[in-house]
Amino acid sequence: MDSVKELWNKMLTGLEIEMSAINFDVWVKPLEPVNIIDDKLVLMASNENICNFVRDKFKEPIQRVMTGINPLLSDIIFIGPSEHDTYKPDAESYPQAAKAEEETPAPKSEVNVINPKYNFENFVVGSSNKFMYAAARAVAEEPGIRYNPLFVYGGAGLGKTHIMHAIGNAIKVSYPTKKVLYVSSETFISEFIASIRATKSESSNFREKYRGADVLMIDDIQFITGRPETQDQMFHTFNELYQANKQLIFSSDRPPKEISDIEERLRSRFEWGLIADVQPPDLETRIAILQKKAQIEKYNIPTEVLTFMAERLSNNIRDMESLLNKVIFLSRLYETEPSIDTVTEALKDYADRSEEAISADSVISCACKYFNVSREDLVGKKKSREIVEPRQICIYVITELLALPLATIGNIFGGRDHTTVMHARDKVAASLSTNIKNKVAVQDIKDMVLKK
Ligand code: ADP
Ligand code: MG
Repeated sequence: MDSVKELWNKMLTGLEIEMSAINFDVWVKPLEPVNIIDDKLVLMASNENICNFVRDKFKEPIQRVMTGINPLLSDIIFIGPSEHDTYKPDAESYPQAAKAEEETPAPKSEVNVINPKYNFENFVVGSSNKFMYAAARAVAEEPGIRYNPLFVYGGAGLGKTHIMHAIGNAIKVSYPTKKVLYVSSETFISEFIASIRATKSESSNFREKYRGADVLMIDDIQFITGRPETQDQMFHTFNELYQANKQLIFSSDRPPKEISDIEERLRSRFEWGLIADVQPPDLETRIAILQKKAQIEKYNIPTEVLTFMAERLSNNIRDMESLLNKVIFLSRLYETEPSIDTVTEALKDYADRSEEAISADSVISCACKYFNVSREDLVGKKKSREIVEPRQICIYVITELLALPLATIGNIFGGRDHTTVMHARDKVAASLSTNIKNKVAVQDIKDMVLKK
């Protein structure tokens, strides 16, 4: 069974790039690969209506991507659950097709290519991201000249990866000869590790790949913490490219000064150019983003419905997109116009997940209960010991459970400076081995938050 799944996973990688995000998420990703029969891949949809819809609308791209991966396959059979037993794997047809697949070389990983779906045109600009946007535009216009390196940071799902791809796409248009390289930091790390183990010629491939770039983007750089050798390699790559006036772009969930366990000389390199942060979008921007995404899908959703959605989710644009996908899915399924009711139904699924999701807010609520202090006092200015200790412990638990920039935590705690937050965190951390009371408090609050 593995091999049909493997084929399907490779196909998904290609299809995600080819299709619009909503079509991909709603219609293609949920299909289940059932079997390969002769030269045909059997895909199952969750009901007959969806099966017909997908066959009509998406057979062509799915087939094209499949043949690209395995030229021996040429057709697709779409089925509903009622036909599953007829098509499920049997001993005869399956191994033959699996063998055919083995003979074709695996396609090169698509994860690190610039995704044409993410561009400046479909990036909605609001006060929360305008600084990052302007910096990205400037870099795309004159790579290697103005802001080098560009370092963007902010919470998950706020558009960092989108903006990096947008820079890449714009540079490809204005400077078609420039070599633009986008990688996740995981890719950088794993390729580097592979290169150490590899033969000489293979390891010079690594060097050539990274040092031959005109524009190098490394996403989610925070994952290099505690990896001295990779950091060393990145440092040299950085220097070589920088000296040759090549553009470097990094993203992270936090600013350079908050990345722990990283060589000082590399941290200071990150700070040489421009550091741009991105914040969670305000309501107006959230509505505009939903509007844009609906437009891309050519789907008309009344403004009051979009507003209702935007009011319910605020911190992560990826979550907003998935809610929108669900709403469109349900409307198509029931053949109705999207309404507040549709959103409420879509949110049902969501609520289950978001209850599990931890927020700074839920940690604060638990800490208030635990220490029997008011929220106002906990995040406020009072300096008495009875309140300072709980506040510091609460801050510590937040830094432990959530990947929030210290500056954001400072804002939540009445506009305190990030250094105050860092001080609180480090003080509590240092106390834990000797101060049993603190240790128990930290553990109890964590338990309260996680079991909620
Ligand atoms: P991050 O890398 O910061 O975690 P992503 O760039 O992956 O976030 O963004 C998550 C999703 O939200 C993507 O589908 C992206 O297109 C979308 N998105 C984020 N910000 C915007 C924006 N300002 N306008 C339109 N879409 C956005
Ligand atoms: Mg990202």
